[in-house]
Amino acid sequence: MRFLTADYLYPLHTPPLKKGVLQISEKGEVIAIFADRNIVPKDKLEFFEGVLCPGFVNAHCHLELSHLFREIDQGKGLLNFLSAVRKRDNFDREYILASIEKAEQQMIKHGIVAVGDICNTADTLAQKQKRNLQYYNFIEVFGVQEAHANQIITKAIDLREQFRISGLKSTISPHAPYSVTQKLLKKLIENFDEEDHLLTIHIQETSKENELFENKTGDFFHWLRGANASPSIWEYRHKSTDILKELQGKNTLLVHNIFLQEESLSDNYYCTCPKANLYIENSLPNYSIFNSDKLCVGTDSLASNDSLSILEELEIIQKNSNFDLNTLLKIASKNGAEAFGFKQLGTFEKGKIPGVNLISGLSDLKIIA
Ligand SMILES: [Zn+2]
Repeated sequence: MRFLTADYLYPLHTPPLKKGVLQISEKGEVIAIFADRNIVPKDKLEFFEGVLCPGFVNAHCHLELSHLFREIDQGKGLLNFLSAVRKRDNFDREYILASIEKAEQQMIKHGIVAVGDICNTADTLAQKQKRNLQYYNFIEVFGVQEAHANQIITKAIDLREQFRISGLKSTISPHAPYSVTQKLLKKLIENFDEEDHLLTIHIQETSKENELFENKTGDFFHWLRGANASPSIWEYRHKSTDILKELQGKNTLLVHNIFLQEESLSDNYYCTCPKANLYIENSLPNYSIFNSDKLCVGTDSLASNDSLSILEELEIIQKNSNFDLNTLLKIASKNGAEAFGFKQLGTFEKGKIPGVNLISGLSDLKIIA
């Protein structure tokens, strides 16, 4: 049995406790929390400088793109990024797998205990079978021509099965509103089953996406026309968030939301990836519009970030919002755990095994309570 105490304890399901104590078992299960450290014998206490909080949940990553670290130029916009990602196949398999392992180690080192991870391949499967971290795997579909919908969905079902037979949570998800046809989305929803409880989508990562749906013009429009895309992509969607109607009320984690308008907010979970947004589009969302109980944070991949650190993402959010530290830590941990249904994670509630992070030397983060 261990009794951990620090300047502040952030249980996240209750307000922060100054000089609080966290009692955990040897395997990390929360036994109790105490508001007053004086009721625990002093020789049993382990003292830390800083704050203690539950392990972080990285709500958006592409672990399989880890080998693209520093391969894609910054600040060139999403269209450039999407075409540059095609380089992914030009690498040795060993290098791809080693990069995945290294990236996972980096996440562990940065206090991450669970990940919402986008998968286009089974490249990450062997690493995930080691169960170093918990993953919710989103099998991504991308297809701008109706004629390919059947083939794409069949491949995705097969990949979902590969993850599921290893006991890994896995759900087919659309890439973005501009990159899936209505037919493909319909097939996706038809194949949603009882093991699926959340899907995810990249949305409003660039203003050009809004331009496509609202005005049927701009770079995305021309790019899609050039790719011989089916007009169903833009003809019946008058704004990006119209895609939610086609998702038929399924629980959805909307990722990026840089150009989201307040009136388009829904009851779904939202995820922000600030460092990747700065890397690709050099913009950030307006944090004041979100319900902070439904906001999560992700690192995105090493193709668009220089690290996989939730704390670094929080520092950017903190500088660009009015969120206090308790809210920031909920975004980093509790909300993502709830979105993914990871019941053992996210708070210091009795019986959970959430991981314990110590944040010290908080030069930029403010302690309010
Ligand atoms: Zn992404």
